[in-house]
Amino acid sequence: MGKKEALYEGKAKIMYATDKADELLVYYKDDATAGNGAKKGTIADKGVMNNKMTAFFFGLLEKEGIKTHLVKVTGEREMLVKKMDMVPLEVIVRNVAAGSLSKRLGVPEGTPLREPVLEYCYKDDALGDPMVNEYHILAMEWATKEELDLIASYSFKINQVLSDYLRQANIELIDFKLEFGKTKDGQIVLADEISPDTCRFWDAQTHEKLDKDRFRRDLGGVEDAYQEILRRLLGE
Ligand code: C5P
Repeated sequence: MGKKEALYEGKAKIMYATDKADELLVYYKDDATAGNGAKKGTIADKGVMNNKMTAFFFGLLEKEGIKTHLVKVTGEREMLVKKMDMVPLEVIVRNVAAGSLSKRLGVPEGTPLREPVLEYCYKDDALGDPMVNEYHILAMEWATKEELDLIASYSFKINQVLSDYLRQANIELIDFKLEFGKTKDGQIVLADEISPDTCRFWDAQTHEKLDKDRFRRDLGGVEDAYQEILRRLLGE
């Protein structure tokens, strides 16, 4: 597995080519952004923690039959993943009102939702990742109906697996964002990451925020919150 040229640098990760045409290396950075890049900073050792947590969650999901892009962890900030055609969507699942849903609909943060809510955003920084619905996705050919049905059913299954697991660690899964890709043979596979950057994790008793909202909202204790999630999940 030789690391070759950087193919793409995002806000939190760098993707490198490897000597295998169908595998990429993901390097997790400590850089943090919020508000589509309006706020910038670093979270010490975030890359190390997010790499570990993503590997842990992907392992858990694989055991439950969800295919992920993870091939193997190759370093404390690095994982080898399958190269795929990414579906240009952010798939958001919500169990409790928070963040942009609370703002948009005027529902107080912390209000439980009777059923999980699924949202799609078109991944485009210049447009600010606008929310879209199934009709937009089919009309723009970002995914087929069959692919979108799979994405929705995988997302709800992932919500179930993660919520159940986290509950035992005294963590409430408020909401989270997923990204999917398509392999050469047409399979829909979970990609990107699952971490406090992409999920809202609240302490189940105190409702203390243990995720990137501490950075987004200048609440302090950002590193400690990430560390606490890691400790509850992996005992570290
Ligand atoms: O901001 P909003 O309330 O829409 O975020 C919903 C969930 O999706 C949160 O868990 C947030 O961390 C995640 N998210 C993300 N990347 C984005 C937008 C949202 O990981 N670009």
